[in-house]
Amino acid sequence: MSATILTDGGSVLVCGAGGFIGGHMVAALRRRGVRCLRALDIKPLAEWYQCFEDVDNRVLDLRDTRSCRLAIDAVDHVINFAADMGGMGFIAAHRAECMLNVLINTHLLVAARDKGVRSYYFASSACVYNQELQDNNDIIRLRESDAWPALPEEGYGLEKLFAEEMCRLFRRDFGVPASYARYHNVYGPHGAYEGGREKAPAALCRKVAEAKLTGNKELEIWGDGEQRRSFLYVDDCIDATIRFVESQEQGPLNIGSEDSVTINELLGMIEEIAGIKCDRMYKSNGPQGVRGRCSDNTLAREVLNWSPSVTLYQGLQQTYEWVYNQLASRSKLAPRQR
Ligand code: NAD
Repeated sequence: MSATILTDGGSVLVCGAGGFIGGHMVAALRRRGVRCLRALDIKPLAEWYQCFEDVDNRVLDLRDTRSCRLAIDAVDHVINFAADMGGMGFIAAHRAECMLNVLINTHLLVAARDKGVRSYYFASSACVYNQELQDNNDIIRLRESDAWPALPEEGYGLEKLFAEEMCRLFRRDFGVPASYARYHNVYGPHGAYEGGREKAPAALCRKVAEAKLTGNKELEIWGDGEQRRSFLYVDDCIDATIRFVESQEQGPLNIGSEDSVTINELLGMIEEIAGIKCDRMYKSNGPQGVRGRCSDNTLAREVLNWSPSVTLYQGLQQTYEWVYNQLASRSKLAPRQR
């Protein structure tokens, strides 16, 4: 098969295209010359982070089986990011809603089987990994085999693991060319930074930008700030995902960074970028997730010849600038009430 299956003239559907990673994927596929591009999300177009006029944009609820059939009609390749999800604060408070993503992943996969697509990619998560491996500060890099025996994050992680298994078994039993990779904390501009779905990098960028704009330097951190994570810049995530889809490997595959930092260190970098020092208020009962999590990229290096290229500092510079500009342009339009 061709090494460029996404750019050989076939049609590509990006589900969850109004969201953070989906929006970047549509932008990247356009740049790579994919002309027959369909973008789909449940949100009205006005709420998409990135929306392009020359793309076949559609608003549909993929929890519905008929919508999935309409979505996939005349499509060669499916890239599925659609999920009701957010950062730790969201998934800890909405575990049942996260489980309902099973409707999207089931109906979409069945439609893909019935229509006969050339490739089907599912965005899974590091939340599938066994939590017992992540409960202390001596961080171990998680390998793809560490998801089983299973003890995933409750709700969101369990649904992701189930959807992975659907992909694996639909491939084995029905011949659907389904694949999946596991993202580790993807961050960057054009994503949620407020409203409850934002993840730590964007949330901290917002809090620091607010401190800069208002002069109020008090900043809340969930837990003691010593929980460790690795973060991957969105451009690297898109590059790895496209390479992975092109490779036609099945997965699982980690798409993440091997360099972990504590939340306190992450905040320190953002403060340095912004040129401000905030007063840290630690909220001990805030949702924190596991104690330490980091990707092992051995397989990604072997299979894709891929490693991240954007440093955390560089990626945070881009993210902070974007979040700051969002807040600053809004506060110019509607000055804050004192
Ligand atoms: P996001 O919330 O920005 O994007 C998801 C999009 O899916 C949203 O725009 C949402 O409106 C859409 N959606 C939700 N329900 C839908 C439905 N019923 N029908 C159609 N569209 C629907 O999230 P993201 O950060 O861009 O994540 C994309 C994918 O990657 C998700 O599946 C997520 O679980 C996975 N992932 C992300 C990360 C990360 O760090 N961002 C980490 C691991 C896995």
